[in-house]
Amino acid sequence: MPQFELLFTQDFANANTEIEQSDGRVTQQFSDSVFEAMVPESPAAKRFDLASLKYSSTVPGFALDETSQRMTNAWRKLQNKERSDGSDAVERLLPNAGHSHKPGFRAQIAQVFTSAWRKLQSKERSGNFDGVERLPPNSDHSFKLGAFRAQVKPPATSKKMRGSVLMSAVIVSGPGDLAFDQDEVDIISGNVMWACRYLASFADPEAKLRFFRVDAPVTITAPSEACTNVADCERVWREPVLSWFSQGRRVPFKTVAEVVQWYQKGSGADYAYIIFFHKYPQVITPAYTAVDNANNGLGYACLKYEYWWKVHYGTVLTLTKVVAHETCHVFGAADEYNIPLPNGGIQKCSCAGSGASDVPNKNCVECTPQHVACMMDVGPELNLCNWSRGQIGWNYWNEVDGAPTSLIDISVPDDLTIFCVDSSNVVWMWSYMIGGGFKKLNVKDNVPSLVKVSAAPNFKGGDVPYHLWGLGTNGRPYRYDSQSSTWEPQSAVLNFWHISVASYDEKQWAMWATDPNGYISRYSGSGTERSDWTTFGGQYLGVSVGMEQAGTIVWAIGQNHKIGTFLDDAFTFDIVNGQMDSIDLRRDMGWGTSKGEVHRYLNASNKWQLIHGAPTFGGIAKVANGGDGHVYALTGAGKLVRHIVATN
Ligand SMILES: [Zn+2]
Ligand SMILES: [Zn+2]
Repeated sequence: MPQFELLFTQDFANANTEIEQSDGRVTQQFSDSVFEAMVPESPAAKRFDLASLKYSSTVPGFALDETSQRMTNAWRKLQNKERSDGSDAVERLLPNAGHSHKPGFRAQIAQVFTSAWRKLQSKERSGNFDGVERLPPNSDHSFKLGAFRAQVKPPATSKKMRGSVLMSAVIVSGPGDLAFDQDEVDIISGNVMWACRYLASFADPEAKLRFFRVDAPVTITAPSEACTNVADCERVWREPVLSWFSQGRRVPFKTVAEVVQWYQKGSGADYAYIIFFHKYPQVITPAYTAVDNANNGLGYACLKYEYWWKVHYGTVLTLTKVVAHETCHVFGAADEYNIPLPNGGIQKCSCAGSGASDVPNKNCVECTPQHVACMMDVGPELNLCNWSRGQIGWNYWNEVDGAPTSLIDISVPDDLTIFCVDSSNVVWMWSYMIGGGFKKLNVKDNVPSLVKVSAAPNFKGGDVPYHLWGLGTNGRPYRYDSQSSTWEPQSAVLNFWHISVASYDEKQWAMWATDPNGYISRYSGSGTERSDWTTFGGQYLGVSVGMEQAGTIVWAIGQNHKIGTFLDDAFTFDIVNGQMDSIDLRRDMGWGTSKGEVHRYLNASNKWQLIHGAPTFGGIAKVANGGDGHVYALTGAGKLVRHIVATN
């Protein structure tokens, strides 16, 4: 598990850069001088060294402003699993209101807000501002259950959960019983902190997700009103809240969407959203999310603060989960559970696509017999399944359409071709150049029963422009001759059990293999005798070869699953940290699997990065690395899946 540190800085921009260069990541920014960073597991062994940071430190060394001090206290209590006291990120981010006067990041943000405000106002004056929020249909239960539960089309302000995300927890305190006391405010603040930390730390590293907290404590005087539909219930407190946000504005905010857009534009954050916490009557409890693609304008969630959150928050992370769940809705994730309706019916979740990239909702309980724990379901688990990840704009895995099933091996030489072997020992090929989907490899005469394939580009053209090797059921290596469409045996039966080929160009290629005794052998490049293979040591579980212009790069998996690299005619371990069950190198980029999950090797930091999401398919047996953006995998169930890289 990653570790989290609370750090202090007087130069956030440089501190952020420094943290990233040290393989850490800022997960939450609480003020201009306080932030949370996720740091590598063993700082001492990696490049990350807290003591040597120049732009931030674990103690402030300077006076903290009120917001910074409160968030610091809240964070430390949270870290001690006590949750918080006196911890709300209380800050009214209205221009010129309540800000530190010393120059700093927040002060700059306030300036930006002011200019964004003016921009918005000028747009409003010129009539070009398109921030019209359409209220959901009145007295229609499908507002919550049909319109956006099944397929969420997030607005532009929360299209993808990537980059810097401004999160504003707006705590709406009304008169009498509708007021929040400090304890409740602290509970909300602490749970929001947990939810944001979870999402930021569980996100794809490529998403560079960082939450920028700008909370608003709002006090209104509107009394409670009986209501029977979502829109009417919301209007009771929403209109006074909009008035609160509009203080000092020449043209008041008319909609929540305008406030969200103002937050986004004013802060310079990539995306922004609001979660309202209130105690007013709400026909949907505990929470609902408002998104509306047609108007491209909504993008907020409303949570009614219920007593049971207070009862449960410390044990099953209920409020944390609700905050994270609604946040995912705002960014495009669909629900995965069925809801009993008051009329006795059931509103089923949908398998249809959701989110900006229209990713299918295959973990909906209606769509799979192998439903996995996901926070878009009703269970307490703070986990996010493969499909939900794709819906909110993170990398995910998708089954390859039309691929043969019951596969036992795959190899992807580049982005143009896929080879695979099925359980009947037949080799299949998909080629962008040939088209027409997966086809059996064209083979004449004595077709051997193959259990493994390994392919590398050789750039020679022809129908199979690859160095393509296979292993027979008898462990014998074969090489495919694309001129004659035959498999040529390369040496006697050698009982090899794993084979790996790589090439840099048509003049250079390399073939390595392992046998059941764990010996690794390298092919000399010609000949069909055992003596054409040079053997190195033993006790290895696998081998993979990549090639750069400078020569081959060979990794082996040792008995303890540690990875060794080939240097000076021997394998040296611990150069590549971590343990893997299988590896696949392309050039010098390594991917691997461990306990059914996929990992990617990071050259710069000498460590493996977990690629979340794959277990949705029952675990990954092997990964095939065809280069950046072209990574495929073989599931434990013999299916071919592709790692889909989300982009901005
Ligand atoms: Zn939901
Ligand atoms: Zn899910």
